Amino acid sequence: MKASKEKDHIKCSFCGRDKQDTAVLIAGINGHICDRCIAQAYQIVNEEFANKQDKSLSKSLNVLKPIEIKNFLNEYVIGQDQAKKVLAVAVYNHFKRLVQKPDKENADVEVEKSNIILVGRTGTGKTLLARTIAKMLNVPFCIADATVLTESGYVGEDVESILSRLLQAADYDQAAAEKGIVFIDEVDKIARKGDNASITRDVSGEGVQQGLLKLLEGSVVNVPPQGGRKHPEQKMVPIDTKNILFLCGGAFDGIEKIIAKRMKKQTIGYASHVGREEIDEENLLQYISAQDIKNFGLIPELIGRLPVVTHLNPLDADALKRILTEPKNALTKQYKKLFKMDGIELEIEEGVLDFVVEKAMEFNLGARGLRSICEAILIDAMFELPSTNERFITITRDYAEDKLSNSTISKLKAA
Ligand code: ADP
Repeated sequence: MKASKEKDHIKCSFCGRDKQDTAVLIAGINGHICDRCIAQAYQIVNEEFANKQDKSLSKSLNVLKPIEIKNFLNEYVIGQDQAKKVLAVAVYNHFKRLVQKPDKENADVEVEKSNIILVGRTGTGKTLLARTIAKMLNVPFCIADATVLTESGYVGEDVESILSRLLQAADYDQAAAEKGIVFIDEVDKIARKGDNASITRDVSGEGVQQGLLKLLEGSVVNVPPQGGRKHPEQKMVPIDTKNILFLCGGAFDGIEKIIAKRMKKQTIGYASHVGREEIDEENLLQYISAQDIKNFGLIPELIGRLPVVTHLNPLDADALKRILTEPKNALTKQYKKLFKMDGIELEIEEGVLDFVVEKAMEFNLGARGLRSICEAILIDAMFELPSTNERFITITRDYAEDKLSNSTISKLKAA
């Protein structure tokens, strides 16, 4: 009898509510907690975490000024000075925006986000730049491919799937994901195809651009945490995209013609400060503007949300050679480390580097080709040497030429 009476008088040890006034009352070793106190405690914990994160952001902001950001990028990415500078400033401003305190005097001045478009040929370092920035800032980072996205309701991935990936990269920490960086690759492939898109539905073009716009606009988007299609039974996680930095990359094949056309008009029509003779016809990308991207087929609303446009230069032989040896995780350093783990010292002669670069230039894949060429040259050595007593190997140009000519990769030629 006594026991049941005591049971009736169970209370929340935090707010003192009787059991019958609560929806759920959970028992602990020496007390109980009700659903409302759990919700409140959860909120307090979240706020604490957010405060801590903001503090660590302001700390990294104090250390990393734009010049330091660029110096960090220099350790991993060769060349591309202009893109590095533009990125360093944009990222610095982005983080200033994240940690800004309410400012009564300038309450009307709202610092807008500086999402970025990176234009450059394949294998010139667009993804590498984005990845390196995320590594430096220690924020969640994900890469999405714009070509697999389709308008909601069609076969393919919804644009929300991008945020699912970011959430996964953040270990499902919603607050961390909301301050992450997203790199959307091949954004040029969702350009509007011609002006008469209304005749057939442009499922993977303008519709996707509209979808992306929703993400970039800074709205709360309901995201299926495990990715895939939305379906009614799935629990959604609301993600606020206001503070997510979006970097979009693309080769924008053929945009040089659009740039040339615009510049010709400018120099012929008006007395422009850029005389025709000053134009570097070899690298027109350096003159790229938002106008050119619009003419290429991205909708103006989307371009408006990607206010920073920068370009990456094609990599010449000199840059490719430096990429092989200089970055912190340069390919030659990686191979040396791999052999060292087997107690083998690897030496690569200078002529081999030149040969690899020549081949990479031939394949026309930017720095992308370097790895597969090195792999083809070294595969036999990596296969055989660990089972022998050899302690040294020197790769000569003759050896490299021989290995490559016998490999299937020598048939590889860029289109
Ligand atoms: P994309 O411009 O197509 O996004 P990536 O950034 O993916 O090219 O580059 C492919 C690979 O080539 C990278 O993993 C990196 O190893 C190398 N690479 C490309 N550009 C550079 C560069 N400027 N500096 C150093 N490595 C580079």
